[in-house]
Amino acid sequence: MPGFELWSDEERKEVNDVLETGVLMRYGFDGPRKGIWKSKQLEEEICKRFGTRYAQLTSSGTSALTTVMNALGIGYGDEIIMPCFTFVASFECVLRVGAIPVLVDVDESLTLNPEAVRKAITSKTKCVMPVHMCGSMADLDALTAICKEHNLILLEDACQSIGASYKGKPLGSIGEAGAFSFDFVKTMTCGEGGAIITNRADIYEKCDSYSDHGHDHKGVDRGADLHPFIGYNYRISELHAAVGLAQIKKVDKVLSIQRKTHQQLKDILSRVPEVSFRIIPDPSGDSCTFLSWFLPTEEITRAVIGELKAQNILAGNFYWFDNNWHYIRKWDHLKHSATLSALHPELKAAVLHHANKNFAASDAVMSRCISTAIGLLWTEEQVKEKGEKMVGIIKKVLQQQGVNA
Ligand SMILES: *Cc1c(COP(=O)(O)O)cnc(C)c1O
Repeated sequence: MPGFELWSDEERKEVNDVLETGVLMRYGFDGPRKGIWKSKQLEEEICKRFGTRYAQLTSSGTSALTTVMNALGIGYGDEIIMPCFTFVASFECVLRVGAIPVLVDVDESLTLNPEAVRKAITSKTKCVMPVHMCGSMADLDALTAICKEHNLILLEDACQSIGASYKGKPLGSIGEAGAFSFDFVKTMTCGEGGAIITNRADIYEKCDSYSDHGHDHKGVDRGADLHPFIGYNYRISELHAAVGLAQIKKVDKVLSIQRKTHQQLKDILSRVPEVSFRIIPDPSGDSCTFLSWFLPTEEITRAVIGELKAQNILAGNFYWFDNNWHYIRKWDHLKHSATLSALHPELKAAVLHHANKNFAASDAVMSRCISTAIGLLWTEEQVKEKGEKMVGIIKKVLQQQGVNA
């Protein structure tokens, strides 16, 4: 699953290029850097691989999302419709720009339910942000149509689905803009890092400035740059970009390994008729970082998790329903609006309202879901062994619960 599993001399070489010159910053120092521009080079590679005109690197996926929300003019009073199954960073960024995270239900695609999106639209809605969770995609045709109809921005959180595509187009490149994360456990890593991809020059230029204190980057003298608006420091360092430069060349290798292993494991689990699988709007575009599957009830799912644990093969199997980072059920900090500094009272009231709604439709999906992370170093034999053990456990639990006795 994560690119770090393929760490090698290629990453070391790229980092060493930077260590040789000692110029760790991505801007300026034109002389001493001796032609080494890892961040710029990685941005070019990102454009090539993910098919957009522009890419802006940042220090993380969180800062990429925060930056692009600013570039899209999302702020005070705006509502962003997003799924209740995601990583906490998705709503953190919405709050950071002062907008309202409107959480809505997911369906068996594990991403936004288009009908739930429709129902959540108000006069304040500015943006719909699908989160392409666990390597696969939201129903982008349906969401694009909704955004067109209501004149809303489509912003893709593609942090977990680098390399996945929808009807031939890379995820992240389909909406107005998309965000990637290159943190340590993502499909390609920089250690820490992120990127915004877009085909719109105006969005790109704002991201470029915003992520570097508002610098306009128009001249050759950094000290003489103008600042058309206020920005922050969300820059990536050359050391991190160097790692990414080696990693991006491995993305296709990662995908091909994942797709093969995913298919093998899926074939094995398919032998149990009670097991069903995640809905994938475009199966050929799945990056296959995870195999996500469902059991008939929460009770059976919990029993299977318990048995996986008992037999010591729980590692790599995620039960998101109980997870603190990814699902609304355990986001107590959000439900209590626990911020260190005061939010505007209007925003706080909206956060409390949206985080404490009824998510029974999502509970019914997430309580039956297990996602198995696909390892890059597993042999065919190991996959077979793992899959067969899982099948054994599922069958045992089904029998105990009298399902197919
Ligand atoms: C990882 C992730 C992020 C944030 O990325 P960081 O680089 O860790 O800040 C945002 N959204 C989703 C869905 C993620 O998985």
